[in-house]
Amino acid sequence: MIKTAKFGGSSLSDAGQFQKVAAIVKADAERRFIVVSAPGKRFSTDDKITDLLYRTAALARERQDFSAPFSLIRDRYLSIERELGLAAAHMGPALDEIEAALRTGQATADFVASRGEYLCARLMGAYLGVPMVDAAELVRFDENGAVDFSATARCCERLKGLDRVVIPGFYGAMPDGSVRTFSRGGSDITGSIIARAVEANVYENWTDVDGFMMADPRIVPEARVMHAVSYEELRELSYMGASVLHEDSIFPVRQARIPIQVRNTNRPEGGGTWIVNEGTLMKEHRQGLLAGIAGRRGFTMITLTKENLHKEVGFGYNLLKILDRHGISFESMPCGIDNLTVILNDADIRGKMDLLYHEIRTELKPDTVEIASSIALIATVGRGMARTVGVAARLFTALSEAGISSRIIDQSPKEMNLIVGVDQRDFEGAVRAIYRAFCE
Ligand code: ASP
Repeated sequence: MIKTAKFGGSSLSDAGQFQKVAAIVKADAERRFIVVSAPGKRFSTDDKITDLLYRTAALARERQDFSAPFSLIRDRYLSIERELGLAAAHMGPALDEIEAALRTGQATADFVASRGEYLCARLMGAYLGVPMVDAAELVRFDENGAVDFSATARCCERLKGLDRVVIPGFYGAMPDGSVRTFSRGGSDITGSIIARAVEANVYENWTDVDGFMMADPRIVPEARVMHAVSYEELRELSYMGASVLHEDSIFPVRQARIPIQVRNTNRPEGGGTWIVNEGTLMKEHRQGLLAGIAGRRGFTMITLTKENLHKEVGFGYNLLKILDRHGISFESMPCGIDNLTVILNDADIRGKMDLLYHEIRTELKPDTVEIASSIALIATVGRGMARTVGVAARLFTALSEAGISSRIIDQSPKEMNLIVGVDQRDFEGAVRAIYRAFCE
C-alpha cells in the first residue's frame, strides 16, 4: 500500500503539532508522501503564516516597511526549529534569502506566499530525517495556469523510488519556472495531485476535526461523524454549505479512484471519514439512510401562477431569458400545473428585484407573482434514500411535529438529495428535526 498524507496548517502550527505529525507519519511505513501546509493558527486570535506572507508581500511591493509581519513569520519558524533542535534546517539563512527577495520589490505575491509551505516542508523533512522535494519541481502548470497532469506525472516519477519524502503544498511552477500558487486552502489540491501521480492507494487528509459531521455541530451538538460518504454526496453537501476539502482537490483522486480519508491529527485513533467512489460505497459503510444534512440561508422564491401554465410553450424559457439578461443563475425550479417557482440566491438579485418583477409582469403576463424572501434551503443527502419507501413522509412528519412548514420541496430524480425550503428563522430547528428523525 502507498499512502499520501497531507497535513493542514493547524496540524503544523507549532513544535508540539510537529511532534504529533511526526508520530503519525512514523507509525506507518506506508505513509511515504507527506504534503504539508504552512503553519496555521495556534489559538483563535493568532495569525496564519500565509496571511502574514500576503501582508508582507503587499507592503514590499509598495516599498513600505514590512518588518512587523515578517518578524512574526521569522519568529514562528525559528521557534519551531529551536524547540525541535533542527539547526540543520538552516531556517535563519532561508528567511534571510526571502527577506532579500522582498527588498528588491520584485518578488511576486505567489512566490512570497509559497514560502510558507516551502519552509515548513524543509523543517518537517529535517525533523523526519527524510528529503524534501520542492513542489516547483513536481507540480507543473500549463501556459493558462491549469495543472498539466502529464507534465506533473513525468516530474513525479522521481518520487517513486523514495521511501519517504516531504513536499510543500499550495504551489507549483509555470512553464517558465515561476512559482504559481493555488487558491487559498490549496495544499489539499497538492495532496490530491501527488496521490494521483504516485498512484497511491489512499489519500489521507489530516486536519483538526474528526471527519465530516453529519450536520453542522453548531446546530446539532450531538451530530455524528460520517463514516463514509461518496464523492457525489459530498458534492451535494458542500454545495449546500458543508465546509469540506478544497473543491478542486476532489477531481484528481476521484478520477483515479483513490479514496480520501479525512483524519484528526489531534485524535489519530479516530476512524475519520472515508470519501469513496459511488460504486465502492459498501452497505456496511453507512449507518442509516443519510450521508448528512446541510443548508444555506439567503434565498428568494418567486412563484408565478397562470391558468394552464403547463400548456404554454416557452413560459419557462422566457423566464430564464429574463434571468439570463441580468446574469442570474437559479438554484432550483420546481413547477406545478398552474404555477412555477424559481429560487434565486439573494446575493445575485441584490438591487435588481424591482426590474425583475417588472419584466416578469410585462413579458410573461402571469396571473399572480409572489415573492418570498428570507428563505433557507436544507439538503438531506444520502444515496440510501433512493427507492426507500417513506423517506419524505418521515422528513415532513419531523418538520410538522416541530411546527415548521416547508415552503418548497425539490427532489432530484436520482433521489439522493431532498431539498426543502423553510423560512430562515426556522432553519436551525428544521435541521435539528430532520437530523433527529433520521439519525437517532
Ligand atoms: N497555506 C495556504 C492557505 O492558508 C494553503 C493551505 O493551507 O492549504 O491558504
